[in-house]
Parts: sequence; structure tokens; C-alpha cells
Amino acid sequence: MPLKINLHHLETRNVVLRGELPLAELDLDVRDEMIHVVSPVEYDIEIEKLDDALLVQGELHVELECECVRCLKKFTHALDLENWTLHLPLAGDDAVSIDNDSVDLTPFVREDMLLEFPQHPLCRPDCGGLKTKPGKTAKIADKAEPKPSAWTELNKLKL
Ligand SMILES: [Zn+2]
Repeated sequence: MPLKINLHHLETRNVVLRGELPLAELDLDVRDEMIHVVSPVEYDIEIEKLDDALLVQGELHVELECECVRCLKKFTHALDLENWTLHLPLAGDDAVSIDNDSVDLTPFVREDMLLEFPQHPLCRPDCGGLKTKPGKTAKIADKAEPKPSAWTELNKLKL
């Protein structure tokens, strides 16, 4: 079920909606291969009908599986929109589309979640990435056997 609100239900009082929006409904077009949505979107919202608009306020929560841009480690990132607010005009040029007296909030959830996706996901803020620390690298380099270079490979061929 998409996240829809019937305008008739709003005529006398506010409507509180709590539930989960399945990933299939959300149909996220995730352009970033580093991020995958791994849970339904949990919502807990209150909808109020103003004179010529809908006011939606509440919380959205979703779990993301991200790949760290530095060390490529996968990690889970909880995305919380704690003060999510939507103001949807019911009249005028910017009016929200109404279908069978209902307004579909799904596109707005999708849009606002995407905006909150981490731009450069990091497993932790100070992730050092794939490279080991400078001190360590030096020690390892001392002990390690010299790698065969292209020249030594060429020499082997000559023999
Ligand atoms: Zn990392």
C-alpha cells in the first residue's frame, strides 16, 4: 500500500498514520551504488488539513546499507528524519495531485529520503581508508621481500 491520505478523513480532525512503507512502493531510484535501502520506511506522521493545504509532520526512519567510500567496508546507517514537515497546497499552480479524494505522500517521502542520503558514506568519521598508517607501512616494507619488478621478469624471459 502506498502512503495515501483520504481528504475526507481530514475534514473533522487530524489523522495520525503509523506504519511501514515497503521498499517496492518507495521505488527508490538510487543512483549511488554505494547505498542500498535495506528496510521499509517506518513512518509516524500527523496530517492536518489547513484552509487550502495539507500539513504533514512527523518522523521517517529507514535503514541503509552503505559502502564506505574510503575503505569499502559495508556498514548500516540509520536514517532518521525526526522533524519531517510537508506543506502541500491543495489549490493553485503548485497544487498536489488528488486521485479519488486521496493524496499520495509516497513521492514526497521518496524525495526527502533521497535528499538525506549521505553524499560520501563513511564507516566512521575518521576512517583511515585502505592504506595502513605510515609507521606501520614502513615496518612492513622493511621485512617484506622485494617484489619482482617488470625488469626481473624480463630477465627471466631472456634466460
Ligand atoms: Zn571506512
